[in-house]
Amino acid sequence: MKVPYIPEPFRIKSVEPLKLLTREEREAKIAEANYNVFALASRDVYIDLLTDSGTGAMSSAQWAGVMLGDESYAGADCYYRVQDNAKKIFGMPYVQLVHQGRAAEKVLLPILLEGKKYAIANMHFDTTRAHVELAGARAIDCVVPEALDTTKYYDFKGNMDTVRLVKYIEELGAENIGVIIMTITNNSAGGQPVSVANIRETAKIAHEHGITFMIDAARYAENSYFVKEREAEFKDASVAEIVKAEFECADCFTMSAKKDAIVNMGGLIGCRDKAVFELIKQRTISYEGFITYGGMSGRDIEALAEGLEEGIDENYLRYRIGQMQYLAGRLEEGGIPFQSPVGGHAVFVDAKKLLPHIPYYEFPAQALAIELYLEAGIRACDIGSYMLGNDPDTGKQLEADFEFTRLAIPRRVYTQAHLDVIADALINIKERARSIKGYKIVEEPPILRHFTAKLRPIE
Ligand SMILES: *Cc1c(COP(=O)(O)O)cnc(C)c1O
Repeated sequence: MKVPYIPEPFRIKSVEPLKLLTREEREAKIAEANYNVFALASRDVYIDLLTDSGTGAMSSAQWAGVMLGDESYAGADCYYRVQDNAKKIFGMPYVQLVHQGRAAEKVLLPILLEGKKYAIANMHFDTTRAHVELAGARAIDCVVPEALDTTKYYDFKGNMDTVRLVKYIEELGAENIGVIIMTITNNSAGGQPVSVANIRETAKIAHEHGITFMIDAARYAENSYFVKEREAEFKDASVAEIVKAEFECADCFTMSAKKDAIVNMGGLIGCRDKAVFELIKQRTISYEGFITYGGMSGRDIEALAEGLEEGIDENYLRYRIGQMQYLAGRLEEGGIPFQSPVGGHAVFVDAKKLLPHIPYYEFPAQALAIELYLEAGIRACDIGSYMLGNDPDTGKQLEADFEFTRLAIPRRVYTQAHLDVIADALINIKERARSIKGYKIVEEPPILRHFTAKLRPIE
């Protein structure tokens, strides 16, 4: 299906040159990187789709904010501005700055999981899972079954399976569950949206059992835009109103501002409980810095305050989601399987379907990421068994529900022509899919291994 490209609602003021290495140079670079895309130098990458996190282009208003940033240790102007904006947008009485999403998790999750055994989420993002485990608890995913069928259309593939959630609570005991987490959009399921109805129902279940309900809010704006497009109750609501409806249900949230708030660094914690907020402040001071800067420079806080508002601009979101839908349309025409309908921040190519001859323990999604680099200098990453890692109890390789190669699209950075290069590269790879081989790990750390592991092709 041909999807029209929605023109950029901005013009470009500043540019960065890109260089494409030769095929031979790329072969040498990826081997030197031990077949781990995180070890590639960005100067050796032509189109960088590793992540949409912190890679967006700031607006002229944000850059102006960089000059306005107040670098006072305590009580800086930008602190009050970000507080006001965050409280207005999310409707939470208490908001704490931290330097990124995982810092928010590091501060908040041990507070919620103290003396508890489990966290249950629609799906845990990888750093969220790591912080649950570091707090001594187990992370359980409970996404709707529709998410697992990448070819089936479903409006809200990010939703919590609330029937299964109730069963988990009965089996594990409400008193053992420290937090129920809703990740919006559901990154690990393919940037898939969660409906407001599902957020409300999950919050109700959590509260009936006396369990804290938290939102992992990295992509609050993209989720809200999908709700506007797909959930009848909200078709005439503004994105800002939808954000309010979502956060109304939550007791607290963690947020990486590097996604929808379009800054290169930043994060937030929000909560309603004064006693919890006191603990958050104490831990922020030890881990991050004084509460009015929370590990950030004043200039970055100013850009964040501005970005929170730009992120929910509907013209921007139409273009942003439109880019994803254009790329997905080209892939569909080319017969490339991906998580469909496409999500908010990335196209998740179904490597299990594209490379069916490579088993999960030889990491098909990682193999496809490497092939994209060899083919066109594109850097993508594995969201599959390679990222999931080993069972913490048995040390055995886990099999992920999905083997996705994620093409994350940075915000306001690449043009339609770049998206065409990406689609053409995948179509070329499909032609020779049978000849692509799997990988084995030759060195790995115990946690978050995908960032630093070393791999070799299996001959
Ligand atoms: C990016 C992200 C995080 C972690 O945030 P960082 O800023 O990278 O530390 C947590 N949860 C979700 C859903 C994310 O997308």
